[in-house]
Amino acid sequence: MKVPIPSILLERAWALECRAKACWGQDAQRLMVCEEAGELVSAIAQHARGRATAQEVVDEAADAIIVACAAVAVVDLDLVDLEQALRAKLDRLQSRVNDHDRKKQQMAIAAMHNGRENLEAGK
Ligand SMILES: [Mg+2]
Repeated sequence: MKVPIPSILLERAWALECRAKACWGQDAQRLMVCEEAGELVSAIAQHARGRATAQEVVDEAADAIIVACAAVAVVDLDLVDLEQALRAKLDRLQSRVNDHDRKKQQMAIAAMHNGRENLEAGK
């Protein structure tokens, strides 16, 4: 399923996080990033133990995506920098997934050949 995060949502998060930084300051926003990142980690761990719902994980993931914009703002970079980093990270993940799939396919082909050879050899 392909559902990219619409740029307009990232732009909105970015604009609001810049305003939040202006309202509450850089240090407060740093702490907010840490807090929300921790909440996502906690929600995932709790979900694995049956103590959090999938929706709770999704809610924390949404918070984490929003504060990702705050993380960029507190180091005085901008949405363009975030987008470039996202593209690079997605390209790297795509390459790793493609490599995994290619190796899995090669192993399946090798197993099929081995099975045929064993069958022909009467093993
Ligand atoms: Mg949260």
